[in-house]
Amino acid sequence: MQAEIKAESKKPETKRKFDVIIIGAGPAGYTAAIYASRAKRETLVISGNLPGGQLMLTTEVENYPGFAEGIFGPELMTTMRKQAERIGTLIIDDEVVNVDFKRLPFKVLTYSEEYEADAVIIATGASPRKIGVRGEQEFSAKGVSYCATCDGPFFKNQDLVVAGGGDSAMEEAIFLTKFAKSVHVVHRRDKLRASKIMQDRAFENKKIHFHWNSVIDEIKGGQKVSEITIKNLNTDQKEMLEAGGIFVAVGHEPNTKLFKGQIDLDDQGYIILKNKTQTSVEGVFAAGDAHDHRYRQAVTAAGFGCMAAIDVDRYLSENKK
Ligand code: NAP
Repeated sequence: MQAEIKAESKKPETKRKFDVIIIGAGPAGYTAAIYASRAKRETLVISGNLPGGQLMLTTEVENYPGFAEGIFGPELMTTMRKQAERIGTLIIDDEVVNVDFKRLPFKVLTYSEEYEADAVIIATGASPRKIGVRGEQEFSAKGVSYCATCDGPFFKNQDLVVAGGGDSAMEEAIFLTKFAKSVHVVHRRDKLRASKIMQDRAFENKKIHFHWNSVIDEIKGGQKVSEITIKNLNTDQKEMLEAGGIFVAVGHEPNTKLFKGQIDLDDQGYIILKNKTQTSVEGVFAAGDAHDHRYRQAVTAAGFGCMAAIDVDRYLSENKK
């Protein structure tokens, strides 16, 4: 009841200045919100164009502690969101288009509003990497997909291609065998990067075929994808695979373009942290896949979110806020 009254009193139309603004609403953003709100900091989360983050695009999550039978990604994220709101976080489903971290209070602009804060936590995560071949852009959403969970059911009884050799690629390939006639995994090396358990599951699946030392050369079709040319990197030989779709799962890129020129980024765009969760600008913190290219797990993102919120609380206290 108390939480409801609190949420009511923090309508976006009237409130513009917050103790902390969290940009992004994946496990890092929501966890940071839970901790910041519990520390009695007025907290705004601006969720971006995919509230809930990458877990909204997954099926079952088996490795998030606390769920003995596993939990579906979207359910986990909806629950985190409700938890943050119950504790008093205001969450706005809008996209940040600009920031100004040059002076205090920091400014965060969305399409429709301008907000201010004494501290900011960047939790914008990462997005699927593209392979950059001919046809990828042209056939996007016409057979080229970055999310088997979202689009797999549209490809019943078809032959499909998956590009990549990591856990995501194996997860996508295995999931797609529920619908597809066959799944061709195209990987640029002769060994998978995926974990042993995912490799075993993929190797055991009779519908999955592997094309080693190979890359996607071109995606072709008419109205939609109908064939994929692959190239063997050892022999330079090309092979044409008839396929109704291709699922690209070759890793991710941090969603940090917005912050270029405002905070230090490395040459791949990941946020450089100076001191625990603090960026190169005092008062601006980061959590999750936007800075972490090593672990990239929901649970580690949540952990970084917790750390960033604790650091923000201390920073605000030290600065008499
Ligand atoms: P990843 O581990 O970075 O794997 C990316 C894969 O794509 C690698 O096999 C890489 O090849 C290949 N690749 C990268 N750029 C390429 C390009 N331009 N052309 C062709 N191939 C390219 O990414 P991920 O699979 O998305 O996984 C990210 C993290 O999430 C990992 O820590 C993973 O364990 C975790 N994850 C876990 C699960 C699960 O446990 N169920 C599911 C999904 C993801 P190389 O191997 O040659 O580098």
